[in-house]
Amino acid sequence: MQIGIIGCGNMGGGMANTLTKKGKKLLCFDSSLVTLEKMKQIGCKVTNSPSDLVQNCDLVILSLPKAKIVRDLMEVISPDIKPGTIILDTSTSEPDTTKSLSETAKKAHYHFIDGPVSGGPVAANSGTMTMLLGGDKNVIKAIQPTLDLITLKTVFVGPSGAGHAAKIANNMLCAANLVLVSEVVKLGNACGISPEDLLNGINAGSGRSGVSEVNFPKWVLNGSYNSGFTMGLMRKDVKLGLELTNKYAVTTPAFDTIASIWEESNNSLPDNKDFNEIYKMSKKND
Ligand code: NAD
Repeated sequence: MQIGIIGCGNMGGGMANTLTKKGKKLLCFDSSLVTLEKMKQIGCKVTNSPSDLVQNCDLVILSLPKAKIVRDLMEVISPDIKPGTIILDTSTSEPDTTKSLSETAKKAHYHFIDGPVSGGPVAANSGTMTMLLGGDKNVIKAIQPTLDLITLKTVFVGPSGAGHAAKIANNMLCAANLVLVSEVVKLGNACGISPEDLLNGINAGSGRSGVSEVNFPKWVLNGSYNSGFTMGLMRKDVKLGLELTNKYAVTTPAFDTIASIWEESNNSLPDNKDFNEIYKMSKKND
């Protein structure tokens, strides 16, 4: 099975690195020539045309910033996709876009699967991501050996679009936890407890989360802010959360408040900053 990757940034580049280290010969495309050069240096073949890539691949992994870019790209490459090809969209995207791309794929006899990921560039580079999968189970089964090379865990969550909906739900919680842990760290300080001592306590108790166990020790308290996931991408995901709750008329007053804090962060934290810097918002009005 010839594998191609379109979008070789923090996550796509990490997946390319892992697959190459595990012996796969990849064909890569990215709109940035600098990024393509990096892919060449790790041993991938590159092409400057996404249509050329799909003509030569059986499995195409997408890792693109947002749904609109996925949609536009699919419009360009669709006529060149061979019957039977599997497109795996690992971007964090919109469920409706995914469902519609999957319908188009069915008509043209290829497959479109949603497989958004968690774990960040570290996990992409070490083959330890978690992937939430939506789409045809038999198609997913066919690519499971490849998925096993780039993930520690894959979870099937339902039909087309379900993977992206579940990923948005996951990131709504991550966005909320970042704000809430920031606030309790501030409370701990006021009570004379250092952030480290407070988190040691919380992480031994029922209030712990991925954010308290991983993000705060790794990227916040030491001031490194180098997780590889940006404010711009997390604000996009928070917006996707709001769009999804609005679409299904699900009331989420707590999340709406959290979302307004992420929206406000736009004024002081540019898109290219690390998403963990939302911590700084908790200190803003002190
Ligand atoms: P990134 O910005 O580092 O990489 C995106 C890549 O896509 C860039 O190299 C860019 O040049 C390329 N690109 C943009 N438009 C293109 C086009 N039309 N054709 C080809 N290439 C194009 O972003 P990332 O952090 O790797 O994130 C990719 C996706 O994965 C996003 O949807 C993000 O939300 C999701 N995600 C990111 C992380 C993380 O920690 N970074 C974790 C989980 C999920």
